[in-house]
Amino acid sequence: MKLYQLMVSTIISTIAMTGMSKAQDFNDVAYSIFKDSIEMRTVVGVGNETPKLAAYLADHLKKGGFADNDITIIPHEDTAAMIIRYRGDGRSGKKPILISSHMDVVEALREDWVRDPFTLIEEGDMYFGRGTLDTKLNVAALVATFIRLKSEGFIPSRDIVLAFSGDEETAMATTKVMTKDYRDQIDAAFAIIADGGGGRIGEDGKAFSYTVSHSEKTFMSVEVTARNTGGHSSRPKKDNAIYDLSKAMLNLSKYEFPVLQSELTQAYFEKTAGLVTDTVIAEAMAEFAKDKNDKTAVATLRSYPQYIGATGTTCVATLLKGGHADNALPQSATATINCRIFPGISAEATLDQLIAVASNDALEWRIINNVEAAPESPLNEVVMGAVERVVHEEYPGLPIVPAMSLGATDGKHFRMAGIPSYALTGIFIKSSDGFSHGLNERVPQDNLPRSMRIWHSLITEWAG
Ligand SMILES: [Zn+2]
Repeated sequence: MKLYQLMVSTIISTIAMTGMSKAQDFNDVAYSIFKDSIEMRTVVGVGNETPKLAAYLADHLKKGGFADNDITIIPHEDTAAMIIRYRGDGRSGKKPILISSHMDVVEALREDWVRDPFTLIEEGDMYFGRGTLDTKLNVAALVATFIRLKSEGFIPSRDIVLAFSGDEETAMATTKVMTKDYRDQIDAAFAIIADGGGGRIGEDGKAFSYTVSHSEKTFMSVEVTARNTGGHSSRPKKDNAIYDLSKAMLNLSKYEFPVLQSELTQAYFEKTAGLVTDTVIAEAMAEFAKDKNDKTAVATLRSYPQYIGATGTTCVATLLKGGHADNALPQSATATINCRIFPGISAEATLDQLIAVASNDALEWRIINNVEAAPESPLNEVVMGAVERVVHEEYPGLPIVPAMSLGATDGKHFRMAGIPSYALTGIFIKSSDGFSHGLNERVPQDNLPRSMRIWHSLITEWAG
């Protein structure tokens, strides 16, 4: 056992025995868990250390006073999920609160990185390592917060449940297992997804907004193929698989998907209008929030890649293959189209739209991924009220923005299971420091004590 691990073990035991508690002690606990978890290679495949991390976290929680039967480890193939229940006395009569994150990380190759991805490296004001941002700091802070609350004698008015998945970055099978086979254990009034959302810091170093993600667009990839009998290229015909496919793609490039707005995207544009410095965009956002049929506002927003997705479904050509020899007429040509479907719209309806736009009955269509559509989570006063109070303790007056995420998290599966989910964290970061899934992933160090404060405050707000 390394010295700091011994120290932390001693801290947890001493706290458990004497009831002594200083916020700093628990920041040390969080740091130690964070450091150890970064050093575990929780990557899909042979040698996946996610089960080891789950056992390690369970050990810390037990030392911190959690009963064996309040910790469930769920082995699944090469990985594992875990569920930790902090029992309340039920005085509020309310359903539990679920807080979810994931223990696995995206693969990282030592030779590609400047520093060892599986060692927590402290440099300047940053922590470097795979999983520092996505999302082991959250896992460590949540576990340490549970230990802290327990040592403080906190008795929640409703159960609080931590659910850590083990393959969020790949198959998301452990999340499905939790929602299907452990439904009674994860059932909750709402789920907080500690992976996404959070504070945004401008390049000037000042926080400018705090995002809570309420929904995710549905991911669908479609292959469209034009076929032809082909032949010798010295004898061209009028019909040609590449030309047929090209015409369909050209139609798609000109097509405008219907304008859509939800309670959430309306609130998002209303809030964001006050945050952007460009007056043309700000005006378009404000107009669009008032009237989604304002054509000028829609045209303006749709001219920006970062905003078009919040105005409706998008589908775009991403891959192309065709033909088999430079001296032969192509027998087939295939394009892949990737769609991000607006919540509430079905995959089938979107595919029908694509088929109509292509306007060639001879084309063959195929959805190539497993489409999983989740509803939008309704705006929730309990969630947002607490977030506003807690975030404003750190940053008075900071705008809190409900948003729709374009990526995918475990929240999708909880929403599909009927548990409204909201993604937020205690992390504040510049977008230029965001290297999730990429090289040299990092997180500013001040996020560790801040996350400890924020989770402690949020949990006591929701379950005090
Ligand atoms: Zn993540």
